Amino acid sequence: MIIDGKKEAEIIRSEIKKEISDLKLKTKKTPCLTVILIGDYTPSKIYVKNKEKSALEVGIKSEIIKYPKSISEQEILKKIDELNKDKKISGILVQLPLPDQISKEKIINAINPSKDVDGFNPINVGNLSSGYKSIIPCTPLGCLLLIKKVEKNLSGKHAVIIGRSNLNGKPMAQLLLKENCTVTIVHSKTKNLQQECLKADILVAAVGVPNLVKKDWVKDNAIVIDVGINKVGEKIVGDVNFEDLKDKTKAITPVPGGVGPMTIACLLKNTLECFKARLL
Ligand code: NAP
Repeated sequence: MIIDGKKEAEIIRSEIKKEISDLKLKTKKTPCLTVILIGDYTPSKIYVKNKEKSALEVGIKSEIIKYPKSISEQEILKKIDELNKDKKISGILVQLPLPDQISKEKIINAINPSKDVDGFNPINVGNLSSGYKSIIPCTPLGCLLLIKKVEKNLSGKHAVIIGRSNLNGKPMAQLLLKENCTVTIVHSKTKNLQQECLKADILVAAVGVPNLVKKDWVKDNAIVIDVGINKVGEKIVGDVNFEDLKDKTKAITPVPGGVGPMTIACLLKNTLECFKARLL
């Protein structure tokens, strides 16, 4: 089975659109996502544009605040403070990466956890790892939703995650632990990577190495989720050798068209959740 992330994302988006339209009628209020974009880095500009377009499509107001690369950390922190206090703003996102003079840690810490649509603030990270309600980082949330489309009950499954980033690997591990999986995280210092991967009922690759995972790394009938987005020549490929593996897995995500579309859908989902929490 090839998991169609585009289709799943479309379903989520149309559910969000419907819910927002109902809420607008009831409350006369509109969710608003504010994105801070610093500098001219082309991929960041494209991501932000896509986020804005997707937000508008489902009825979320979108505001992009642009700063030059030379902006000071102080200015950004001041703006975040304003946005934290602004009742009309449901979600705040600061597009990464940041220029060298700005501390990612300080910025992430400054965002009000209840508006932290990326789920990177340590309060949200801590709540997730404690098993409490939290805002969940968009890409791992998207991966979990795709996995659960294939298998509803993950209890007792062995999940192996390649990669331990704060963005992907670590929150993915927490989510799968919460689902009662036995979780192994492997990374660049892991010995016998292949042997570890072969134990996986669920394998999530979030590495950034093109076609790292090959046919003989995966047992029959595993669910394989490929987070990787790697440019090889003119092509975008994942961390998994899709052609090599697709016939031996129970389910697998393609790149593109797998996890990618789910990430934005989950950003919209998080923005809606933040908006709803403010209505209470
Ligand atoms: P990252 O911060 O660079 O982390 C990569 C992880 O992979 C690290 O933990 C690293 O280990 C590990 N690693 C690197 N080379 C390895 C190897 N040869 N064997 C085993 N482990 C290895 O990357 P990230 O931000 O998590 O992103 C990972 C990939 O996902 C990238 O391709 C990125 O573009 C993509 N991505 C996709 C989406 C989406 O929406 N689909 C969203 C975000 C990111 P160490 O910790 O030991 O260095």
